Amino acid sequence: MKQKVFLASCEGYDPPAIAQKIKTAVNTIAPKLHITGRVVIKPNLVMAHPKVATEGYTRAEVIEGLLQVLQEYTGITQTAVVEKSGLGVSTSYMYRNAGYRALRKKYGIRLVSMEESHKRIVVANKARLQYYFTVAREMAQREFLIFVPKLKTNVLSHAYSGAIKLNIGTIDSAERLFHHNRDLPIKLADLLEIANPNLIVTDGIRMAFGGNQMTQHGTDLGVLVISTNVVAHDMVCAHLLNLDPLKIEHIREAAYRGFGPSSLNEIEIIGDYPVHRAQSKTRDLDFGFCPVHQFKSNFAIQTGKPYCIAGCQGIFLDWLYMINDRKPKLLKKFPKLTVLIGKCGAVHADRILLVGNCACASRPLKAKRITRIHGCPPSHKRIVWDMMIGYGIFNPLVRPSLIWDAYIRYPFKKLKGWFLNLKKDNTSE
Ligand code: SF4
Repeated sequence: MKQKVFLASCEGYDPPAIAQKIKTAVNTIAPKLHITGRVVIKPNLVMAHPKVATEGYTRAEVIEGLLQVLQEYTGITQTAVVEKSGLGVSTSYMYRNAGYRALRKKYGIRLVSMEESHKRIVVANKARLQYYFTVAREMAQREFLIFVPKLKTNVLSHAYSGAIKLNIGTIDSAERLFHHNRDLPIKLADLLEIANPNLIVTDGIRMAFGGNQMTQHGTDLGVLVISTNVVAHDMVCAHLLNLDPLKIEHIREAAYRGFGPSSLNEIEIIGDYPVHRAQSKTRDLDFGFCPVHQFKSNFAIQTGKPYCIAGCQGIFLDWLYMINDRKPKLLKKFPKLTVLIGKCGAVHADRILLVGNCACASRPLKAKRITRIHGCPPSHKRIVWDMMIGYGIFNPLVRPSLIWDAYIRYPFKKLKGWFLNLKKDNTSE
């Protein structure tokens, strides 16, 4: 039987209207869906900020619409929103910025910030790369899992970020960059072994595109994408963006591993939103997915081997887009600099920047000044910091509120989580 994906036309962020759409979709594609017990909702809150990160996260109104639907299921014993934000900022701050805190009292839900909560180690028996993951206790104990991604593009994952990619925010920050290189598609499929959603509701009312996954801009698309299969869901979302789903490595890997259909032909697309409407709106959008050395700036970028779309090359491209998205004039003020990413051969230049451990192995190098950013890959936070300290480039995310949160509040939150996990936790599984 074909997997079904429901496309619901939804023009605005009105929670009751969103609830109605979700209800219709669920009744159509999975009328017998039994939502019961401990429910976990996983949104995309990688970054939300009213000035610099305005589009790339799941809107609170979509979560509220979903919560209104869940109120009609009598067997639910607990509902928790679980997230771990990115870039080393605290998740609680992102909950606040995205307007999730108002939902806590109104619907009696819990907002779980992974870095300051109880954690569990879960084992992925059929993994190909990573056999265990540290997740929030609520995630380990859930009985029903709902993913609520944002429909958006991402240069770290072949231009598309969706439900499968959302799982990177399921795990602890210490494990997040582990295999976040050319192996990422395999790791994401491994993650499905431990967190495969029962229901997916994607916020495509506005989609975010091009640029950096956090700071990118958005456009109205007017669609909610609802499915019970993660691969079918992502294939259809990629199709809406005029992308070939089988050229997106993590979708292909998940399909190959048996998590869903192997092509669009095995999917039935239904609903009141025509595919061509999204395709005509997204056809001419620039998703920004290009080789990092093609990005135009004062930097002379050379890439060596390996080329890691989700690793050094992709993260440095993502850093460049942060500036392009929010402070484009700054690009013209960049210093003249030769940047090597991946292991390169002989280079003779005035100033050389080496990004990542492979670049640091480049030989022979001759320059007045050589700077290294270590890591496999280096984190966004590290690149932002090192480029600020080393070259005086103040990234648009270098704002007092975010600096305070990332360097003062976040370490305390992590410390709190560390102490919490030292204590014995007798909560049953
Ligand atoms: S150091 Fe960078 S280029 Fe090398 S394997 Fe790691 S992510 Fe890839």
